[in-house]
Amino acid sequence: MKILLVTPPLTQLNTPYPATCHLMGFLRSKGLEADQMDLSIELIQALFTRAKLEEIFQMAASHTHLSKQNKITLQQSNFFLRTIEPVMRFLGGKDSSLAQRFSELDFWPQSKRFPSDEDLEWAFGLLGNHDRATHLCTLFLKDLCDFIQQTTDAHFELIRYAESLCLRLPEFDPLQAELQKPHSLIDKLMLDIFEKRVNECKPDMVCFSIPFPGNLYSGLRCAQWLRDKHPTIKIALGGGYVNTELRSLSDPTIFDYTDYILYDDGELPLLRLITGGEMIRTLYRSEEGEIVRVNFNSKENMPFSEIGTPDYDGLLQNNYINLIELTNPMHALWSNGRWNKMMLAHGCYWGKCTFCDGSLDYIHRFEQAPIGLIVDRMETIMQQTGQSGFHFVDEAAPPALLRKLAEEIMRRKLTVSYWTNVRFEKSFSPELCYLMAQSGCIAISGGLEVASPRILQLINKGITIETARESMKNFADAGIMTHAYLMYGFPTETAQETIDSLEVVRGLFEEGYIQSAFWHRYAMTMHSPSGLHPECVGAKHIPIETSPFANNEIPFSTPHEIDLEYYGKGLNLATYNYMQGAGYDKKVKDWF
Ligand code: SF4
Repeated sequence: MKILLVTPPLTQLNTPYPATCHLMGFLRSKGLEADQMDLSIELIQALFTRAKLEEIFQMAASHTHLSKQNKITLQQSNFFLRTIEPVMRFLGGKDSSLAQRFSELDFWPQSKRFPSDEDLEWAFGLLGNHDRATHLCTLFLKDLCDFIQQTTDAHFELIRYAESLCLRLPEFDPLQAELQKPHSLIDKLMLDIFEKRVNECKPDMVCFSIPFPGNLYSGLRCAQWLRDKHPTIKIALGGGYVNTELRSLSDPTIFDYTDYILYDDGELPLLRLITGGEMIRTLYRSEEGEIVRVNFNSKENMPFSEIGTPDYDGLLQNNYINLIELTNPMHALWSNGRWNKMMLAHGCYWGKCTFCDGSLDYIHRFEQAPIGLIVDRMETIMQQTGQSGFHFVDEAAPPALLRKLAEEIMRRKLTVSYWTNVRFEKSFSPELCYLMAQSGCIAISGGLEVASPRILQLINKGITIETARESMKNFADAGIMTHAYLMYGFPTETAQETIDSLEVVRGLFEEGYIQSAFWHRYAMTMHSPSGLHPECVGAKHIPIETSPFANNEIPFSTPHEIDLEYYGKGLNLATYNYMQGAGYDKKVKDWF
């Protein structure tokens, strides 16, 4: 049996999303025939061409109600047409000689998105032409995406497709209605690429990885096409979105598009499905039209040490593109650079934070492999991809493991760079941070959440503001950049605690202990300790019925409810300024 693993559009464009690489490495290690495609980057490569843009501009020109901005873009269409392919070559690292030209602000048409010369000089200096050009090219693509979204396909965004449709989807009907509409220009383009690949590969089964809501519509569009043109090919869905949102699925309509839905780590469920063993964590629709849940609560998994090495074969010919949307150097890591993605360990060694999906396998099951095996995997991947940068996508890499990793990298004399998630705990001593930096660690990210002693205890983060500050200082002293995940709107959090939390964050920026941060609004999810036992964090569920399709967020009530939109705006504005090195003198309460 031949398997084709697909990442449907749209997701990150700078490097392959790791799910299919992990599964393919595993399937091939079991002697099975497997192939993969990143339909996301392939769609973007095909869309951002002169020929395709000509078609889009021609279609848009026939619209009678264009906004003023879209009329201006249409008037500038010649510039877009002659520039798009050089921009894609530059962003794909195929023509760096354009950096000087693209870094000049005068080269580009006026756009309200573009920064001033002073701002650019502040962010990139006089010599940072390559990054400066990448930033301006990214803003150029964003302008183009706005135009495509407003004139051609309302679902289109640069790194997500139809996300707003799928973000909260208690019922399948709205998505089903969209899927019954005629194909848009983007749908057609995507399906043309997919058809070519299916014809070449001739798979017996196609598996779609759906990591985010912004991949669901396109995955089902492709599945719908497969059902129609190749009804004998089996279809399976899995991935992060499925694992968190579709666990209580009761509407069987989605099985019009897929034969199976697989949950949690896909290695073993998929292996059993392919080889005809006893199925686990698998849903399908019976002949009577009922959903059948087979061994849904099975905890059986392949040990982390036996899942094989991620395999990038089939993705390396893609022209992944670097994007820099924000000038902050830490932010740029997410969208800039061909990072090899792999895990140092499975799950989280702490696993107790009350807002986190701790009851799900990807957090709950902490498993390690010998460090020699991990570094062997790194060396194999470097040989495959020719890249020596790693993004370890662990939920929270344990300090003891990072120490062993650093020592092993140095013992083997490897020149690599890497970044990962951590918990800001006291084990990150000056000595460990120095060792990590020496071995190639360039950045870390971690949750400070609500920087308030009372709320940190309610969150059960297991850290204090003092230990977090100390570990951040140690990272900064070792030259490692730090990004802090922050949270607002936690149950019982008062307005004063929110403001105090910002004061702590202001201090961390001013002292140079963190370089970037992002505020997430707390959401109570059904798989988190706070969702399972809201009384533990001082909240109450607002009763609702389980939805037939997606279920994740739970409405709740709490004392001291504050205007979250109001405070969210102030927090984000202040932090945006701090990231640019500005606004430290302003009193924190004045941001609200
Ligand atoms: S929030 Fe992070 S540290 Fe806390 S349990 Fe989840 S993964 Fe672990």
